[in-house]
Amino acid sequence: MTSHILDLTGKTALVTGGSRGIGAACVSLLAERGATVAFTYAKSAEQAEEVVARAAAFGGKAIAISADLADPMKAVAGVEKAVDALGGRLDILVNNAGVAEHGSIGALANDTLERQLDINVRGVWYTTTTAVAVLADGGRIINIGSFFSERVPFPGSSAYGMTKHAVAGMTKGWARDLAARKITVNTVEPGPIATDANPEEGERAKRIQAVVPLGRFGQPHEVAELVAFLASSAAGYITGANILIDGGLLA
Ligand code: NDP
Repeated sequence: MTSHILDLTGKTALVTGGSRGIGAACVSLLAERGATVAFTYAKSAEQAEEVVARAAAFGGKAIAISADLADPMKAVAGVEKAVDALGGRLDILVNNAGVAEHGSIGALANDTLERQLDINVRGVWYTTTTAVAVLADGGRIINIGSFFSERVPFPGSSAYGMTKHAVAGMTKGWARDLAARKITVNTVEPGPIATDANPEEGERAKRIQAVVPLGRFGQPHEVAELVAFLASSAAGYITGANILIDGGLLA
């Protein structure tokens, strides 16, 4: 029997921030496609257990690991625990965990800037530089950036925009560094996606929907589909790319 090109049976994956939102959708879909998936979370232990149970319900395997990426030591320890739990093998890394905190120049508190740098930039850096020591040749690194990796289309987002531009920069550098090992590295850049961080109800949501050509928020599973495609053997010639999934927002 030939396996489907999107099939991930036998692969192992680590998703950071897999307890809720886009990360949880990635865990579920990668597990559904056959991968064994470890994921980290910081605060949402109950939701993390639900993600584990959802995977088990369709015969998949997901493993929850508590690791606050804001602390480099804990980020490194989280990767080590995940790799242990995955039997020492890692094929796919999805750097998803991130926070968005907005405020105009002069108004954004320094600790808010530092938190975003810790999680969105240093968290990705320490996770990846640790994981890459065991990542299999031919493996995949998928960084969840944002449409803010391309443009900063609203005021008050210089700090978040800076962190997501940094993600795109790491992607391009690592794509070159890891090409000899046939490891691909890409940034998925979501537009507005309906999660706890960006609810699709309310006045703010209406203003966002009005400027999205497709007229709606995206759903976490739609981002997960792109992540799972990039994780598959179908995407072997895509590396160093920033791929928008934004309903046409930046068109
Ligand atoms: P959510 O707030 O819904 O979920 C965030 C996830 O990241 C949770 O599982 C959370 O776990 C985890 N997380 C947050 N901080 C930490 C930390 N310090 N250590 C470990 N895990 C952490 O966010 P989204 O799903 O919306 O966002 C996911 C990614 O997508 C982010 O990188 C975000 O910037 C990006 N993005 C989102 C968009 C959107 O519109 N939703 C648009 C563009 C990009 P816990 O609850 O356990 O702390």
